Amino acid sequence: MSKLNLKKSRELFRKAKRIIPGGVNSPVRAFSAVGGNPLFIESAKGSKIYDVDGNEYIDYVQSWGPMIVGHANPKIINAIKKAADKGTSFGAPTPLEIELATMVRKVYPSMEVMRMVNSGTEATMSAIRAARGFTGRDKVVKFEGCYHGHADGLLVKAGSGLATFGVPTSAGVPKDYARNTITLPYNDLKAFRQICEKAGKNIACVIIEPVVGNSGCILPKPGYLEGLRKITKKHGIVLIFDEVMTGFRVSFGGAQKAFKIKPDMTCLGKVIGGGLPVGAYGGKKEIMRMISPDGPVYQAGTLSGNPLAMTAGIENLKILSKPDTYKKLMAKSAALEDALKNAAKRAGIKTKFYRAGTMFCTYFTDKEVYNFTDAANTNTVMFGKFFIRMLERGVNLAPSAFEAGFMSLAHTNSDIKKTAQAAYEVFKEIK
Ligand SMILES: *Cc1c(COP(=O)(O)O)cnc(C)c1O
Repeated sequence: MSKLNLKKSRELFRKAKRIIPGGVNSPVRAFSAVGGNPLFIESAKGSKIYDVDGNEYIDYVQSWGPMIVGHANPKIINAIKKAADKGTSFGAPTPLEIELATMVRKVYPSMEVMRMVNSGTEATMSAIRAARGFTGRDKVVKFEGCYHGHADGLLVKAGSGLATFGVPTSAGVPKDYARNTITLPYNDLKAFRQICEKAGKNIACVIIEPVVGNSGCILPKPGYLEGLRKITKKHGIVLIFDEVMTGFRVSFGGAQKAFKIKPDMTCLGKVIGGGLPVGAYGGKKEIMRMISPDGPVYQAGTLSGNPLAMTAGIENLKILSKPDTYKKLMAKSAALEDALKNAAKRAGIKTKFYRAGTMFCTYFTDKEVYNFTDAANTNTVMFGKFFIRMLERGVNLAPSAFEAGFMSLAHTNSDIKKTAQAAYEVFKEIK
């Protein structure tokens, strides 16, 4: 990254590495996959993010998804400030939790009853525990390249972070945990049907990213999600949609609304916190009734339903609920798609661009990408070059070929134009 002055970021990274593993509190932030030096961030506003050396970038990382209305939205920030004045945590219920849950259920009616937690990891971990408690079965089916947070049993062939580092599964996970996780290729209904016919009685649940955002952006083939719904119903298997990323991103009502599928349980995170740590899991009443103190499945959290986090989530959803918001978001996302596809065409480079609502990804390949193996076979070295050169031109993409990009309400036509021009120049350089 010769063209950027990153003096302070470099210095901070050296310091951070002495006290924090890899210098970062979440692995993909370290830029290992793209061979660079991570930016240390000073601030962000709207569509832009600013590093400690004073460089400005158009931001498509969006804190990995949550910042859908743009960074530091004044309505959200002011609401958080007001809430903070009243106290930051009570360890007792507040009206805010009911308000956010009610707002979420209105948009995700499949979540008849839900509980707030502090992260996506907690949401998926708890949903699986509930499904196991409800069915009295142990096995979980997941799909290659889908990431569901870092709970032990789910760190098997789990996409982005793990794919980025070439670690198929994590050390420190007892074989006995992983043994109950069955991993299948995404978009392969036949493989799923076969396993259900063989072992359906032992399978508690299927957890899936309905659109895979943790291997780039992989869309379900027509009929795939419908097939999963039908087969799970037949075998009494709980269908869990992990919409931690796709929720409020593929559409206002997530992938379940866009593809018209009603899962038994749903996990949310990222956007519902408006930039503060929030997750939620919920679903059918009879399943959620298993959760303590109503039922025998234990799940708790000292800071769950935190008033600042609930406030940020509520304000975020208020903005998203306005009539024109999604029209605007989708128009911006489509404009970026057109501009990037056009840039690739003009530059004469072979790429595949996929988009689901406000999530998108450019793969360097001339073949369609249907599953994790396809994504892994794309040209990640070329992606690394693309990433660094885009950054040098002031465009911040996720530092891995296996991550989605995100559009926000704050991105302007001028941002999109600049991004496409930068992409055109870079495509020409690297092809
Ligand atoms: C980000 C993500 C998670 C994990 O959420 P955290 O808040 O990072 O724990 C789980 N599932 C999906 C689909 C995600 O994208």
